[in-house]
Amino acid sequence: MVNYSLMITAELENLTDLQPQGGCDDPSFNYYFKLKCGNCGEVTPKEVCLCLTDVVPHGKGSTNLVKKCKFCSREGTVTMITGRGRPLTQIQSQFGHFTPLMVFDCRGVEPLDFSFGSGWQVESIEGTKFDGVDLSGGEFVEYDEKGECPVMISNLRASFDVLK
Ligand SMILES: [Zn+2]
Repeated sequence: MVNYSLMITAELENLTDLQPQGGCDDPSFNYYFKLKCGNCGEVTPKEVCLCLTDVVPHGKGSTNLVKKCKFCSREGTVTMITGRGRPLTQIQSQFGHFTPLMVFDCRGVEPLDFSFGSGWQVESIEGTKFDGVDLSGGEFVEYDEKGECPVMISNLRASFDVLK
């Protein structure tokens, strides 16, 4: 069992507090990434989708995803661990620092290639809230009427850090 922390950063222009809509532990937010089999190294051709409301009974407890490797048939599980996520602030963004969003307890598989989908929220430094932000195109460009300034999210980056 290895715990991986999903870390993200981005360039935020006149924006702060980038996070999944409803917060990092929003039960309906979908996290998309690929899985590498810990046995044979096969990578899933497509992203898997993880969501807190997807609960699968497994062994004596439950998990959020059970994935059988197409190549070697070994089964892997991914369980989400809540309470660790923090919004990406403008200051972190300016320094190129990453913020944790979610922790994944992975057994038999390794997460990689996180995809930024839709359903994000962010606010301008003037306090204007932007909901339902779609980052699947890699960028978000808007205009903050209240602050009378352009706002932008760009240069999205993500990694999975092993928690010791
Ligand atoms: Zn395999």
